[in-house]
Amino acid sequence: MLIQKHSRELYRRGIKSLVGSVNSPVRSFKAVNTPMIFSRKGLGAHIWDVDRNKYIDYIMCWGVHILGHAYKPVVCAAIAALKKSSSLGLSCENEIKLAEMIKRNFKSMDKVRFVSTGTEACMTALRLARAFTGRSKIIKFDGCYHGHFDSLLVKSGSGNLTFGLPSGAGVLPAYTRDTISLPFNDIGLFQEAVKKNKHQLACVIVEPVPCNMGVIIPQENFIKEISRITKQENIILIFDEVITGFRLSLSGAQGIFGVTPDLTCLGKIIGGGFPIAAVGGRKQIMDLLAPLGQVYQAGTFSGNPVSVAAGLKTLEYLEVSSGFYDGIEKKTKDLLFLMRSAAETQGIPLTINNAGSVFTVFFTDKSVRSFADTRQVDQQSYARFFSALLQQGVLFPPSAFEACFVSGAHSEPVIERTAQAFKRALGKMRQGCLTAR
Ligand code: PLP
Repeated sequence: MLIQKHSRELYRRGIKSLVGSVNSPVRSFKAVNTPMIFSRKGLGAHIWDVDRNKYIDYIMCWGVHILGHAYKPVVCAAIAALKKSSSLGLSCENEIKLAEMIKRNFKSMDKVRFVSTGTEACMTALRLARAFTGRSKIIKFDGCYHGHFDSLLVKSGSGNLTFGLPSGAGVLPAYTRDTISLPFNDIGLFQEAVKKNKHQLACVIVEPVPCNMGVIIPQENFIKEISRITKQENIILIFDEVITGFRLSLSGAQGIFGVTPDLTCLGKIIGGGFPIAAVGGRKQIMDLLAPLGQVYQAGTFSGNPVSVAAGLKTLEYLEVSSGFYDGIEKKTKDLLFLMRSAAETQGIPLTINNAGSVFTVFFTDKSVRSFADTRQVDQQSYARFFSALLQQGVLFPPSAFEACFVSGAHSEPVIERTAQAFKRALGKMRQGCLTAR
């Protein structure tokens, strides 16, 4: 049994001054019925808690650390920038360099605006789409998450899904009246909705590979069809690549699918571990932003120099490291092979969805292709599995509906150790040794 005395103490102290002792809901471990741990540090593929327990980390700050925690060249770049001020409040050359780097890889992006969070990027994309088209309605998909912005919280994934929250609490009906949420992977219903709302739709926003109801693989041509129909109907297509951008490939999911969205949202990886996000796309749309156009958007910390420097160093590394994506993909495939074999041997029904270096383990023998399918998944088994795996020194996300991330720092021995821990955790589950805490 791991000793987590200091984490327990911090929790008792934390709940007196922080809501649920966290600053983002999923960190609470509430959904997996497990006492939360407090982190002390991260390095490479590992994270340590305040009791000095060491875990192999598959949360990786929810997809941020593609090179691993505290990757030295990135840390050095951040420190060098910090020495010249943590925030200057004026534009810097590095912001242009980062925008150029993004444009070089994302051919759909003529222009970029940096913001601080993925939520802001999606919110700004929506505002731009409405201003450009002069229309108000939007289509999103059940279980996709685009940040905690009122009109996008309808049937959203991530924490909302994890905790089964009503998406409407605190959100005025006026903000969601124009939001249409449809099942992902159902092109028929999408076509119907577009027909029914002809000349009223400003945009369609989609995670091209949803990762916030667990990883869901788009069925063949689903994304291409959406792209064809939106073009035909002059509806703005927004790809939310906050997770998939620079994760699935240098040019994100759009590079893989060969689809050109009108607007793209990026975040996570582009800040090298620091807060930054971006919205970018066609010049005619982007130039509607102030100061050139009438669409207002601003931010004290937008384009923060430390985030930009760390982001630049990260993307530079990804650009020049040939075979990087093949490498993390292969390690992921190796791990999943070992995990599937262990589950099969022990007779535990498991479905693992995977795209590149991202995957989700679902406790079901059925395929999981939509939000509705995720509702059938056994959350109690996931909670027991999470806890058993944590005891074996491996940290998976504390929710059945989040994704695991493999980084460049997850070496072959780390993958091997994870597979062994996975096998032991399933064994414990099977023996029924664990009582859900
Ligand atoms: N879009 C997607 C696909 C995300 O996964 C997230 C966060 O996880 C967001 C938007 C919101 O980003 P942030 O948490 O930086 O506001």
